[in-house]
Amino acid sequence: MRTEDCPTTPVATTATAAPGCQFASDNTAGFCPEAWRALEAANAGCLASYGNDPWTTRACDLIREFFEYPADVFFVFNGTAANSLAIAAMCQSYHAILCHELSHVETDECGAPEFFSNGTKLLLLSGDRGKLTPAGITHAVERRQDIHYPKPRVVSVTQATELSTVYSLDELAGVHDACRRHGLRLHMDGARFANAVAALDVPPRQLTWEAGVDVLCLGGTKNGMGVGDAVVFFRKDLAEEFAYRCKQAGQLASKMRFLTAPWVGLLEDGAWLDNARRANAAAARLEAGLRGIAGVEVLGSREANAVFARLPEPLASGLRDRGWRFYDFIGSGGCRFMCSWATTDADIEALLADARRLAAAG
Ligand SMILES: *Cc1c(COP(=O)(O)O)cnc(C)c1O
Repeated sequence: MRTEDCPTTPVATTATAAPGCQFASDNTAGFCPEAWRALEAANAGCLASYGNDPWTTRACDLIREFFEYPADVFFVFNGTAANSLAIAAMCQSYHAILCHELSHVETDECGAPEFFSNGTKLLLLSGDRGKLTPAGITHAVERRQDIHYPKPRVVSVTQATELSTVYSLDELAGVHDACRRHGLRLHMDGARFANAVAALDVPPRQLTWEAGVDVLCLGGTKNGMGVGDAVVFFRKDLAEEFAYRCKQAGQLASKMRFLTAPWVGLLEDGAWLDNARRANAAAARLEAGLRGIAGVEVLGSREANAVFARLPEPLASGLRDRGWRFYDFIGSGGCRFMCSWATTDADIEALLADARRLAAAG
């Protein structure tokens, strides 16, 4: 993990410090009840392995219904595998992937996208609020077009972004237009896709295949599962032989139903979107509270489930001394408070109460 590990046993230094890991990441939460119940149901009896079971069939069908598209769907253990295998499926080793300099594929995947694609180079672009722009893409393509430079092939966007913003439909249309003009494929890292859907309140199809996305890595873990993300191909040709990539990379679960049943739990009755709405609302509440505390400067323009804020050093360390965990976010000079489906109003009020006390004590 990045700057500090979330301890397995919360460090309780005061009576209010119990939910210490709460704001470190949306992957500190457990299974949500809907995913957990489905997992328990899938545990009954013996079922066929390697995805030839009814839970996996149902999960694929639900994802297709959800996108209103006959997509090819694969299940892997985590987002790093989803992203790097999806990218590998779209590239040759001499290609390049255009992505934001703060993107997870660049900053948090230990070179896995390059590794699984046998050396495809990530070309880093800057852009406000964690987003790529059509002009940035065009510039990156046109600045070099000779044989000595890797050939741009894929644009990778993150939705919602690493900075808790979302690409609007217009912004996605601009990115797609640039992709079309330059013959680039479009990959979307949707580890927090649910939070983007919740923030924008549009049907998932409008943010994906209708927006020109070729492959989506769809996050399950951060949304309320214990483990597992999905790779959703909106182009059949790109999915060809993808199952072999998954198997070779150690990403084919033999007891597949335990990766897929939670998807059924999340999607069947809408928990997926409810969870994301709850996480986004928690972040909105936290942001409003932080804005009212002297010396705290909220950073960026939050639309999803993380709040970035610059805290006076004594306040940040005071909160940590009280057992709260949150990251100093890469490069921004701020702290990141991440909310999840499990974040309660009481958690937020407890954090804010500690922050107010510390701020008042100067
Ligand atoms: C969490 C996350 C992932 C997946 O990370 P893993 O640890 O590999 O599951 C991918 N992209 C983004 C933007 C993320 O925040």
